[in-house]
Amino acid sequence: MPETDTPMMKQYKDIKAAYPDAFLFYRLGDFYEMFFDDAELAARELEITLTKRGQKNENDIPMCGVPYHSAEGYIATLIEKGYKIAICEQVEDPAKAKGVVKREVVRMITPGTIMEGRALDETENNFLVAMVPNGTETAFVKADLTTGEAAAALLSDDVGEWQREMTTAHPKEIIVPEEQEGGMADIYRGMISTGSVPELKPEWEELTSALESRTLRDGAALLLGYVELTQQRSLGHLQPFTVYEPNRTMQLDLHSRRNLELTETMMGKTKDGSLLGVLDHTVTAMGGRKLRRWIEEPLLSRPAIEERYGMVASFAENFFAREDLREHLRDVYDIERLAGKAVYGNINARELVQLRRTLQAVPAIADLLSGMNNPAINERLVDVSAFQELEELLDRSLVDDPPFGVQEGGMFRSGFHEELDQYREAGQNGKQWIAELEQKERAETGIKSLKVGYNRVFGYYIEITRANTYLIPDGRYERKQTLTNAERYITPELKEKEDLILGSADRAVQLEYELFLDLRERVAGYVRPLQELADLLSEMDVLQNFAHVSERLGYVRPAFSADKTLAVRNGRHPVVETMLTAGEFVSNDTHMDEHGMLLITGPNMAGKSTVMRQVALIAIMAQIGCFVPAEEAELPLFDRIFTRIGAADDLTSGQSTFMVEMKETQQALLNASADSLILLDEIGRGTSTYDGMALAQAIMEYIHEQVGAKTLFSTHYHELTVMEDHLPALRNVHVRAVEEDGEIIFLHRVEPGRADRSYGIYVAKLAGLPPQVIERSETILKSFEQQKTAAYAAPEEPAPETTVREAEEPEQLALFSIDDGSARAKEIMSELKRTDVLRMSPMDAIEKLYELQQYA
Ligand code: ADP
Repeated sequence: MPETDTPMMKQYKDIKAAYPDAFLFYRLGDFYEMFFDDAELAARELEITLTKRGQKNENDIPMCGVPYHSAEGYIATLIEKGYKIAICEQVEDPAKAKGVVKREVVRMITPGTIMEGRALDETENNFLVAMVPNGTETAFVKADLTTGEAAAALLSDDVGEWQREMTTAHPKEIIVPEEQEGGMADIYRGMISTGSVPELKPEWEELTSALESRTLRDGAALLLGYVELTQQRSLGHLQPFTVYEPNRTMQLDLHSRRNLELTETMMGKTKDGSLLGVLDHTVTAMGGRKLRRWIEEPLLSRPAIEERYGMVASFAENFFAREDLREHLRDVYDIERLAGKAVYGNINARELVQLRRTLQAVPAIADLLSGMNNPAINERLVDVSAFQELEELLDRSLVDDPPFGVQEGGMFRSGFHEELDQYREAGQNGKQWIAELEQKERAETGIKSLKVGYNRVFGYYIEITRANTYLIPDGRYERKQTLTNAERYITPELKEKEDLILGSADRAVQLEYELFLDLRERVAGYVRPLQELADLLSEMDVLQNFAHVSERLGYVRPAFSADKTLAVRNGRHPVVETMLTAGEFVSNDTHMDEHGMLLITGPNMAGKSTVMRQVALIAIMAQIGCFVPAEEAELPLFDRIFTRIGAADDLTSGQSTFMVEMKETQQALLNASADSLILLDEIGRGTSTYDGMALAQAIMEYIHEQVGAKTLFSTHYHELTVMEDHLPALRNVHVRAVEEDGEIIFLHRVEPGRADRSYGIYVAKLAGLPPQVIERSETILKSFEQQKTAAYAAPEEPAPETTVREAEEPEQLALFSIDDGSARAKEIMSELKRTDVLRMSPMDAIEKLYELQQYA
């Protein structure tokens, strides 16, 4: 006969059925328990012991649990791994329950809605994204519950566009309507939650009033509905959704962001070694987050960028004021998140003290800022007197170092609330009376070893060793407890004082909690002004940071060129230069006029890709409003930057490197405009030499004729340098290396013209290859160079300035160019021709090749 579930198990299963995709943390006494599959998975993920409970059809029910008091750490671990958790609490008093205690899920914790704890990174936004397509467009709605930011955009059906938005927002969780789940790309699959689009509720009116299209409102409703469902709490700290244009910022695809190591390195995924790592000397956590956002979203509007330069310049010119400002910013806490927590109802007194410190620092900060006399800064200043009342309230009410908990008292200053003071005084008097009791009783009874003590079960008592009990006057004490060597007594008066002490302590704690809730409510009322203040402080932090970094690292204010010229004098790579000791980095000029294309040649390790990245990073820095590592820089505004650099991260994606290379190139050719910047590093390296050269040339010609984007192209195919004669906008530059005593020295200096030779053989020599190999390769090289002349195929439609040279019909490119006319070469050729490659095993082919090589 099948066993039936116990009533508790039945309740568990009923609740769990409603939360199939979350861990159900089922409250049982002092633990959150998990059962069945949840238990097995949690035991693995949390490395906790799997136990069992009862039996079900002869099978044990797997179970594991985490203590209620230390649940937060476990929750953070699961959230970091992308899981969701449903917190199921007892919702009635167990003492009054008939049968199983009633339980309900009171809250869900998900990666996109988590409000506190270790899983939250203070240096990064925690965006929750909702996407609702309507057939032609997609609503892209994002909100960070911890800071209250909320924004929405309508995206076209271009997949690239929403991928870019996604990359920028870097969401922790994505909500889509149920029927859309299948349409999401694999990389997002683990972050998806589904929901249905609810009707807009009247209380969301304020939040959604800027959303004009139906699709955007649906997106917001999906997001808000999900937040309400999971949090079951107020949304009061969310700011009204702002609508933004998806193309308002420079577009950088995921690969380019990674390749350029904007916010993290490619290998270690660390901030150290990235552009953000170099630029981030912000003082506040909020400023750090904002800087990261700015780096991810370079601006396209020249006035907006120049306004930032103006403010940075003000900070740069006022060294002492800036240092003062940095000092005061140290007292600024993460009020963006604190304001959110006040509304959300999970702020504690310690955090309110942090808010108080911040508010106390604000008047001085405001003074310093207005002292800058910069119109853009003045325009941003908020009315700081609006916070005076709040600051005074917090100052009067809270002690300097309150506890973490809000239900144990000890938060409020004496003098703040009369009734509270009375309770405390009563308690104090009682304690005083008890402290004096010991002396008094000893004196009156003559028992020297008489002690007054306290424990949780019996309260206060008088303890007398058994040997002395005979000295107690009759009826003086009432016996309460017998120990081995002593007796414990009480008196009615002692109990009365005890009631007073404990009662007033209880009442004080209760009263403090009520006062605290009140205070929290008051703070919550300031949420909007606090968010504005947070915005001001974080922006000023980033801007002063730009000035600070520029001064330390020698950056200059760039200018925008009217004619799309790019002219950088003595530019440096912002990250590489910090990794070298001072003076070691070789700065370089870059000059590209209206249709600039540069073909960069030079040996491996010369610094080709460094100089390419340097140009892109300088452009990005300029467009976030930062000064740039150069002596002088004049730049166009770039609408997009495409890169095809390096391959370190391709290996993991499972695609062939060459395929990835071609796909990225295709993206660039398809989407770049005349205002874009394209970096192509060693395109064609992934395939055979002639294939590669042919592709590289065709790609350059295409960009030259069809796109007109500024392009930096590095290659070690020297043959390509002849393109300069055919493509008017293209110029050769090379990164020089010199030979000295048989060694090559990389000068890292970019100079006009083509590299005079390949240094591959020298690198081989450096690597210690045998002298015979080196000598032989030098001989072969010479013979190659004699025949190299006709390797370049002129474009079919040469640019107008170029005269068509019929005589230079391209030759069929020979696969092996070893036929130097010698008898030996002829023999090798005829042997090759006789070889039936298709019938050979790979091993035989290698052997044959080896044989030929011996003969050569
Ligand atoms: P390539 O792309 O030509 O193979 P890289 O740009 O990767 O060469 O540069 C190789 C190394 O040379 C870099 O890691 C860096 O340490 C050093 N380097 C490159 N450019 C410079 C420079 N301008 N000044 C000093 N060192 C440089």
